Amino acid sequence: MSNGGGWRIRYECPQCGAPVALGEAVRVLSCPYCRSRLYLDLPDRPRYFLPPPGDGDDLFFVPYRRRRGLVFTMAPGGVTARYLDTNHIHVDLPHLPLSLGVRPQAMTLNILGPAAAGLFLRPGPQEPYDAGAPGSEVFIGEGESLIYSPFYVRDRRIWDAFLRRPVAPLGDTPVERLGALAPEERRDVRFVAAICPRCGGDLAGEGEAAVLTCGNCDSAWTCRKGALGLVPHALKEGPPEALYLPFWRLRVALEGLEMDSVGDLIRLANLPRVVGPQEAGRPLYFWVPAFKINPALFLRWCRQLTVYQPGEDLTVTLSGARLFPATLPEEEALAAVPLILAQIVTDKRLFFRALPGLKVRPAGSLLFYQPFVTRNRELLHAELGLTMDMNALRFGTKL
Ligand SMILES: [Zn+2]
Ligand SMILES: [Zn+2]
Repeated sequence: MSNGGGWRIRYECPQCGAPVALGEAVRVLSCPYCRSRLYLDLPDRPRYFLPPPGDGDDLFFVPYRRRRGLVFTMAPGGVTARYLDTNHIHVDLPHLPLSLGVRPQAMTLNILGPAAAGLFLRPGPQEPYDAGAPGSEVFIGEGESLIYSPFYVRDRRIWDAFLRRPVAPLGDTPVERLGALAPEERRDVRFVAAICPRCGGDLAGEGEAAVLTCGNCDSAWTCRKGALGLVPHALKEGPPEALYLPFWRLRVALEGLEMDSVGDLIRLANLPRVVGPQEAGRPLYFWVPAFKINPALFLRWCRQLTVYQPGEDLTVTLSGARLFPATLPEEEALAAVPLILAQIVTDKRLFFRALPGLKVRPAGSLLFYQPFVTRNRELLHAELGLTMDMNALRFGTKL
């Protein structure tokens, strides 16, 4: 899968020491030299730096805050999405360039670990794009990172280390007074071997996969705090040629809106369905694609599956099934719950009154593989009425 014009990060294979450059969304390193496969466990807000063109003791590095992904805006008229890919200076040095421009695209970034030499400034106050209407925006994507760019001071001016020319007056604030990150504040990537913790088999999953699977002992795994943890999973069996796409089936505890059972769904979404008390009492699940697709399809499938509430007839046998990788982690799927509610709750006044106080707490998730078959360049799930152009899977990396 392409990385959609993203940046490249330089890693060093912990087994053989070879340098390997990967797209920033890649989570599984497959070393082309020693063949080892490792899951990259990155901090929540990874820190990278642009490698300076030469050595210099007097270099200091300025943080730029980067966000890349989709911003969904909920309004009574509907949910809209816009693509965001920004970086903005994140420290109080008024005359420096406000953004890094296209420079990071032309270079390979390094992880800012404890060993990196130089003075790395502590990130400063938040930027204005945090100040949207409270609660009406949801960000889903590759998240946030800090990118450090090198400068130095000469003749009371700040010089760009790449351009080798002054870009700003030093002003009254000595750079040192802005504060530097301590080495222990810089967290390196942790490498976790892609080996099944239960049976020792090789885990399947490449590139941007957030969940790795073991066909040997039928298990699924994701990385949490440096170790692989089990992901409960299920699979609805399809025809032998089926391609299985992963979905998160989320059980959540909602605060601020009563939406806990199928009965609540029927009532609040005003569905033309008559059900007995037993079915009405069934727990409600929120369904979210666990892979990156274009925002319109993402919203539509979340809505359709949640309204449909696919059944329980499932198996856990992954062995031999063609699995499409789950690239959207569970935490990001949880962020989509308000987007689903904004679409399906028919009383928009009720929903938008509840939204500022709405809290979504995870209460058990399942990675559910659903069978799709190919028809005329389309993927089709006949029972759920879902169809998708094959290309949509490829272009989905922007989410
Ligand atoms: Zn290697
Ligand atoms: Zn296993």
